[in-house]
Amino acid sequence: MSMITRRDALALLGFAALGQRMTRPGAPEFPRGAVIRTLLKDVPPDALAGGSVLFHEHLSMHYPPQVKEHFTDDVAMMIDEVRAAGKDGVACIVDGGHPDMSRSLDALKRIATESGVPIVASGGYYMQPTYPPEIAAKSADEIADSLAREAAEQRLGAFGEIGQQGGVLTEDEKRVFQAVAKAHVRTGLPIFTHNAYTGTRPTPNPVPHDAALRQLDVLEGAGAKPEHIAIGHVCCLDDPKAEMAQQLAKRGAFVGFDRVTIPIVPDAERVVMIMAMVEAGYADRVLISSDFAIANSLKKNGGAGIAQAVTVFGPMLSKAGLPDATLHRILVDNPRRFLAFVPT
Ligand SMILES: [Zn+2]
Ligand SMILES: [Zn+2]
Repeated sequence: MSMITRRDALALLGFAALGQRMTRPGAPEFPRGAVIRTLLKDVPPDALAGGSVLFHEHLSMHYPPQVKEHFTDDVAMMIDEVRAAGKDGVACIVDGGHPDMSRSLDALKRIATESGVPIVASGGYYMQPTYPPEIAAKSADEIADSLAREAAEQRLGAFGEIGQQGGVLTEDEKRVFQAVAKAHVRTGLPIFTHNAYTGTRPTPNPVPHDAALRQLDVLEGAGAKPEHIAIGHVCCLDDPKAEMAQQLAKRGAFVGFDRVTIPIVPDAERVVMIMAMVEAGYADRVLISSDFAIANSLKKNGGAGIAQAVTVFGPMLSKAGLPDATLHRILVDNPRRFLAFVPT
């Protein structure tokens, strides 16, 4: 694992100093009134242009659900880690947990307040094994009502990660996906998913690669527009030519390379996938994050820390020849385009 310093990370992103506003050709334009809804306040997307935005990490969780203790219970430690991520050039972090994963909103608020790094909290349900029993008896519209209400009451800024356990959505999972799409239509909040995958592991029952497309089918079928959807964990498909990733991008969805640094698929293969996406003209559909959930990756344990998608994986793309301006678009512009919405 190569590590780079904060100064390197910022130079890579094209900044002289963290927080400096830049006017730059090709900077994204946002609809009038668009905001990114962080837990503490709504911010204009331009206010987060000073660094990378990580669209899928975990700062508070108990997973698997039966675990009694989790490293994120040490909120003071997580504040230090998030503050360090800010120094590594991270401008905002989206937490991918929700009540299904015992994510604590109070913990996230404390982390955002004390670290100074804005945090977006999410709503929704994870996957069949974690659903509360009442899901089975509710219609998609009823679930959508409660999701939209919770989102408003709790200042949630996204629905995610919305997942499936196996290669095919269960009936309940399909209904939850429909409900999330309907809640998106009511609120404007973006959606990110947990797609199933088998990586490069040999297995008798591999997850079909087109599971990603089926997620998009269900979300679009219930009214969500692809430009507000990120299909997650596409970087865990053994798909070196990025064929599935390109099909998703062609339909207009964001494509989540959101488990970088986790060796389900080697990072070298992910670099090839992203270069193929850029080559095919889909740079503006690529999102990068690391799904932070492993104690060994904490800085205090000698790991690269929460900014690892930027500080460890970013330089791999540069080394492969990705121009700095394109890397900037992917790390800084794309996630803000994904998260920004006009409140309804
Ligand atoms: Zn996931
Ligand atoms: Zn996750």
